[in-house]
Amino acid sequence: MRVKILGSAAGGGFPQWNCACSNCSRLRKGVLKTRPRTQAQVAVSPDHSTWFLLNASPDLRQQLGENSEFAPPGAARGTPISAIILTSADVDCVLGLLHLREFQPLRIYSTLSVRRVLAEENSLFRTLTRSNPPVRWEVLSLDRLVPLVAHAQPGARENLFCKAVSLGGSFPDYVSDQLRRSLPEDEAVIGLQFMQRDKRFLYAPSLPGRGEDWKRRVGESQLAFLDATFWSDDELIKIQSGGPSARQMGHLPLYGTGGLLHQLQLVRNVRRVLIHINNTNPILDEESPQHRAVLEAGFEIAYDGMEFEL
Ligand SMILES: [Zn+2]
Repeated sequence: MRVKILGSAAGGGFPQWNCACSNCSRLRKGVLKTRPRTQAQVAVSPDHSTWFLLNASPDLRQQLGENSEFAPPGAARGTPISAIILTSADVDCVLGLLHLREFQPLRIYSTLSVRRVLAEENSLFRTLTRSNPPVRWEVLSLDRLVPLVAHAQPGARENLFCKAVSLGGSFPDYVSDQLRRSLPEDEAVIGLQFMQRDKRFLYAPSLPGRGEDWKRRVGESQLAFLDATFWSDDELIKIQSGGPSARQMGHLPLYGTGGLLHQLQLVRNVRRVLIHINNTNPILDEESPQHRAVLEAGFEIAYDGMEFEL
């Protein structure tokens, strides 16, 4: 299985167009040792020719253009992208679907709740149904193994499988109260567990960090991409002089008691890659003590173009 990071930042990217935080300002001035980053986007391939997009970022058009793997494979119109798998209905996870609207038949995997949010309340996404055949929605039921290749044979060793695991988040603010009341909350934010033969890859770009189950999922993977939106719980409060904490936004902070580093301090034999990094996060500064601390704790910091082979 090949895993490629096309974008590694949280919503807004790095730098964010309207942000004057220390990181964004210093990056614009060229005085920060770091890399610019586009918004979180990952692609997985079971065979180096078929690709599954994990979410569809607002930067998707740019990200597909900059990576030659995603060019049409033949002389006719076409794509090596077989399907898109959504972890939530957050704007940052779904806006890129509109970049894929050019009459291309595709499949979209999501929980039934995420599909209802997009299909019932957001008529703009009906542009995806104009292709022939129209986009096909596939339901991801929690904790059920789904084969991802169209011709997959149940049990065949080379197949790529995906399992949706609930991470305990909530639906985006834009969902109406009426629809929200009819949706099971455990379908709001999921992690994706990919399996091919004996290899396991976990994608959890939005991790509230509640309960113990998510840590077990990390421990049984060879590779785990984990939510690194914020370094501290009050990061945005300090910058914006108010607003919600990281935990209130559904993101377990990296630092502090009960933070991601603390909770995973005993998990060592898994490649743990920090992704979905907000532009305010001090780990983006390669000369900061926070950057050094996560590397010393055995974590890797995602950047655009990073690749893995499992
Ligand atoms: Zn910023």
